[in-house]
Amino acid sequence: MTVDTWREPKPTIDQVRRLVQRIQSYVRTSRVMGIVSSILLLALMIQMGILIYMNFLPLFLGGIPFPLPEWFYYVLMLTFLFAMVVYAITGTVNARLNRYMLEYKKIGVVVQLRCEACDRTSERIWEKEDYIFKKEGTCACGGTQFISQMYIMPLPIKKKD
Ligand SMILES: [Zn+2]
Repeated sequence: MTVDTWREPKPTIDQVRRLVQRIQSYVRTSRVMGIVSSILLLALMIQMGILIYMNFLPLFLGGIPFPLPEWFYYVLMLTFLFAMVVYAITGTVNARLNRYMLEYKKIGVVVQLRCEACDRTSERIWEKEDYIFKKEGTCACGGTQFISQMYIMPLPIKKKD
């Protein structure tokens, strides 16, 4: 497995936290947009169903097409336009979310440094050639720090049941 070289400047832990927050809000938006899209699709299907049943079926099966009121077509048009706008926004939101997720997978690995003397911990972004128990730097108390944990910064997102 080859590891991509780090982009410069190296991301900081705060940047990753911000990225995680951004992902969280985009996931929420994406879910809301998904629900709105489904409702609009359902509304469109019902309206198309009415149109086909009232206007087109009688033409083919014989009978007199039932004249739909003018406002029906306006409503249909507006629903369609609204749906187009919502789908465009949903697409943009999802595309951004995908990009952020890719970024997160690249830089979301966190290394926890622990002081041997006072147990104080700090975090930084994972770097090439990090390993558990690697000694690194000194703590504010003067003790030696070592890498005690490596983990992916959790995304505080509720999973769908
Ligand atoms: Zn210490």
